[in-house]
Amino acid sequence: MSAHSTVVVGGGIAGLYTALRLAKQGDRVTVVDAEPSVGGLTRPWEIGGITWDRFYHVVLGSDYETRNLLAEIGLADRLQFKAVKTNFYHEGRLYPFSSMLDLFTFPELSILGKLRLAATVLHARYGGNDAAYEWEGVLEYLTRWSGAGTVDRIWRPLLRAKLGDHHAMASAAFIRATIKRLQGARRGGFREERYGYVSGGYAAVLTALERHLRGLGVEFVLGHRVKQVFLNDDRVIVALGGAELTADRAVLTLASPLCVAICPQLTPKEQRVLTQDRYFGVACTSLLVNRRLGNAYVTNVADGGFPFTGIINMSALVDRAELGGYDLVYLPKYAPADEKAFMQSDEVLIARSIESLRRVFPAFSSSDVVAAKVARASHVFPFPRIGRAASLPPAMTSLRRIAVVNSARLRYATLNVSDTIGVVDEALDELEQNPVWRSRHEARGRAFA
Ligand SMILES: Cc1cc2nc3c(=O)[nH]c(=O)nc-3n(C[C@H](O)[C@H](O)[C@H](O)COP(=O)(O)OP(=O)(O)OC[C@H]3O[C@@H](n4cnc5c(N)ncnc54)[C@H](O)[C@@H]3O)c2cc1C
Repeated sequence: MSAHSTVVVGGGIAGLYTALRLAKQGDRVTVVDAEPSVGGLTRPWEIGGITWDRFYHVVLGSDYETRNLLAEIGLADRLQFKAVKTNFYHEGRLYPFSSMLDLFTFPELSILGKLRLAATVLHARYGGNDAAYEWEGVLEYLTRWSGAGTVDRIWRPLLRAKLGDHHAMASAAFIRATIKRLQGARRGGFREERYGYVSGGYAAVLTALERHLRGLGVEFVLGHRVKQVFLNDDRVIVALGGAELTADRAVLTLASPLCVAICPQLTPKEQRVLTQDRYFGVACTSLLVNRRLGNAYVTNVADGGFPFTGIINMSALVDRAELGGYDLVYLPKYAPADEKAFMQSDEVLIARSIESLRRVFPAFSSSDVVAAKVARASHVFPFPRIGRAASLPPAMTSLRRIAVVNSARLRYATLNVSDTIGVVDEALDELEQNPVWRSRHEARGRAFA
């Protein structure tokens, strides 16, 4: 076994999974995170006496990497699946949108429009090679398959809800990946949707994962923001502002612009490539509500005036006993962190969330709200522009002992835990093929043998 020392910067899923893989191959791993606890976007918080994820998370049947990880840390039997519904809010009305029957009774499209919509979903899921659609604009693709009327009525409002005014610059690969992911919850075509969650939420997952990692010898430095990572005489120095860690190598798992901000020795070209994509963040209101807000897990919103991306009711999926008997509802708004939609105060977002919920569920009122909070993350995903996936940088940087392994490496997939684990696996495999990345590892292995 080698005694290679590696610092993993970032203790989100990408960092924790990197630590797991490296520790299992014998590295001495230290995970550093700016927050006082691990988990990044999956970190839980407390709302109205309930501990649950600050951003909603589900596991799909097709999330094999997540399911393997849960099995490895002993949580496979806490994963529960349930059939759930999807709603569609369109021009002031709420429609069920879970089954083929729902599609065919949807009054806003002609029979031909419905058939073309179904064909679009099937083509996105099964047709063609994803790489080819990387170079096609999302609206061109959707117009070709669904027709201009359905694009105007359905797709464009949905795209605007997720990507704002920039949506037309997205690639067709983005919508195909989104459709594929949603279809991953279905048992085929438009049949029953099933979503899964781990009893106890991501709090349970992170507790078990951290315990497992500590058991493998992984160390954690939490509540310390990394200020700089640089090479000094072939050693990697991780500066924490006051303290320093020294290691053989470092893996940076932060969003690409954040990696550039802490790694000044990257070449100008690397800096340009890693900062070329504008990141979207999310401001997400959580409302704990003393009223049943229907049985749909997701309400997709295709209504120009609606200020949120959608409505997610966690209580449609999770046993209400785990949520204090309440409905836990999330209203996310994705936007670049320097845009107004992201920068509104918590008070404004909460007031708009309550007003928006009342539009969709007229019986709901502010007196039903037991607790309300807003979670924000400034760097969630890079804008899925045309051709982005074709110009991803290698994981290994020019510094050779410092690698960037983050979720921006996702190609043809929307952001999710399972595919994040998948890209970490891919990137670590790529690094292990590289003799320079391995060289120290081997030398150390000999030295300690
Ligand atoms: C609203 C929302 C809903 C989602 N729903 C789902 C879902 O239903 N199912 C699913 O599978 N996935 C879902 N996801 C995606 C999932 O959360 C992500 O795929 C995953 O958490 C990404 O992990 P990461 O490690 O790449 O990034 P992050 O979680 O962002 O981790 C980055 C870490 O780096 C740390 N950091 C940043 N800067 C520094 C620094 N300078 N020094 C030290 N540490 C630093 C941060 O504190 C953070 O812990 C959702 C995400 C969001 C936002």
